[in-house]
Amino acid sequence: MRGLEQGSRLTIALRRARVRKGMCAFVTFHRVWENDMSATDMGMPPAEFETFLDAFSERYTLLQVGEAFKAHAQNTLPRNGLALTFDDGYADMSTVIAPILTRRELPATFFVATSFIGADEGLTVNQLTNLANNPLIEIGGHTRTHPHLSQLTSRQQYEEIAGNKSDLEALIGGPLVSFAYPYGGRADVNRSAIRTARKAGYLGACTTESLQIPEINVLCKGVNPYRTNRFATNRINPEELCRAIDYLGGLS
Ligand SMILES: [Zn+2]
Repeated sequence: MRGLEQGSRLTIALRRARVRKGMCAFVTFHRVWENDMSATDMGMPPAEFETFLDAFSERYTLLQVGEAFKAHAQNTLPRNGLALTFDDGYADMSTVIAPILTRRELPATFFVATSFIGADEGLTVNQLTNLANNPLIEIGGHTRTHPHLSQLTSRQQYEEIAGNKSDLEALIGGPLVSFAYPYGGRADVNRSAIRTARKAGYLGACTTESLQIPEINVLCKGVNPYRTNRFATNRINPEELCRAIDYLGGLS
């Protein structure tokens, strides 16, 4: 019994020491808009969003998801990396989020589903191409129609993932390297979806499984980049979130 306890403590200590050599935490946002509500699953008002940015920019080295995947492959992740991610493709990306990030000179990754482009409340093609031309902003893939991937055949998964990649690449004129699974929970991301993200040519892919699988809460050496967890920003304040990231990332 005692040996087991010591063994698991040693494993945890080694894992945290390993993480300290380099890590990147990923955080998810959806919409940022003027509304009467505090943060919900789908969004938060700009003033609240800025409190997260204040906390993050003070503590972490911010990088785009694609930069994090490249650094992970080369074992050059910063000690305290953090990547801001935004999902889906709402027009807020262009009208609210990008202006705030640009004013603060903060990099970020926007995951865009093809079906959001030109849709009600979605980005226009013009807005998307302007975002892609902003060096602070990386455009990533998020499938064609935002399905629950685990409910599809592997062929359908490939059409969703690789099709969205080529749709976006044709629009923005450059290669995509980062992907986020729609919904992104454990039930939505099966082995076949993970294989397909790799096959489609992505360097890595994000889930939303943070805190459900503690050992892979941050991207670090030894973590499969196609199973990169993300921290949610709803129902948590920036200080609490930073404390969780610091603890799980081996920073505290
Ligand atoms: Zn989504």
